[in-house]
Amino acid sequence: MAGPDQSWFTETLHAGVAQRLVISRLIHHGRTEWQEVMVFDNPVFGRVVALDGALQVTERDEFIYHEMLTHVPILAHGRVRRVLIMGGGDGGILRRCLMHAGVAEVTMVEIDGEFVELMRRHVPSISAGAFEDARVRLVIGDGAEFMRMARDFDVIIVDSTDPTGPGAVLFSPEFYADCQKALTPGGVLVTQSGVPFLQDEELTLVQARLGAVFADATCYQASIPTYYGGAMAFGWASDDAGLRRHDRAALAARYEAAGLVTRYYTPEIHQASFALPGYFCR
Ligand code: SAM
Repeated sequence: MAGPDQSWFTETLHAGVAQRLVISRLIHHGRTEWQEVMVFDNPVFGRVVALDGALQVTERDEFIYHEMLTHVPILAHGRVRRVLIMGGGDGGILRRCLMHAGVAEVTMVEIDGEFVELMRRHVPSISAGAFEDARVRLVIGDGAEFMRMARDFDVIIVDSTDPTGPGAVLFSPEFYADCQKALTPGGVLVTQSGVPFLQDEELTLVQARLGAVFADATCYQASIPTYYGGAMAFGWASDDAGLRRHDRAALAARYEAAGLVTRYYTPEIHQASFALPGYFCR
């Protein structure tokens, strides 16, 4: 139990509720050109990263979010060669994309180059050397700007902050229309879409905007302890509903062939993640 003299990080993401984590050691606290960055150690979650007061990633539970936002679209697609990541400055998504031998190229567009450097220096375990992989093309810039001219990607993964600050443009109707143009036939877009129990407007907004552009727009779910308030939603969009209806045997065959080592993702979890509680689809 933390003593009275312990210092605490209080997350300021939601109105009316907040979570607190003991800061057992402050590693970094400062502003980049784009956002306030805090990196600290916590006895439960290990090294923790927050941007503008919102928890982004922790060493202890990052695998859940990164495995589900990466392996679900890539294994559902089945023949991914080119991946485009929006955001993802900690490198956790990048690392999981590179686990797929068939992936020839991963382009990652991250607005905050200084944040990437801070992550590589202070939380190297999350990217685990991914930034050095020859298949990686790291672009420092605004993802919405990049998306306007992007073409021929098989999977797009929007690993953004929430729709405030620099991340807001990655939730606009124009951005999603540009994503559709950037995808190859049979391509898949997935997006970080918040925790509906506390951020229902984020999911409602994403679903309506994806549905206006793509033939098949829905979401899937996973529960990540530090994104508290119940399951997190991941927006899913493609022009082929069959891409999210593979049977377990097909997914299991692809998972085995990929030779993935995962701690959360399984073919059964993949299938089950598209079964949604009623309040998700309000
Ligand atoms: N897992 C986290 C979550 O669920 O909220 C997101 C993690 S990741 C750290 C979010 C990234 O989005 C950050 O690196 C941030 O710099 C980046 N970002 C925000 N707005 C962006 C934009 N317009 N273009 C590119 N990257 C952006």
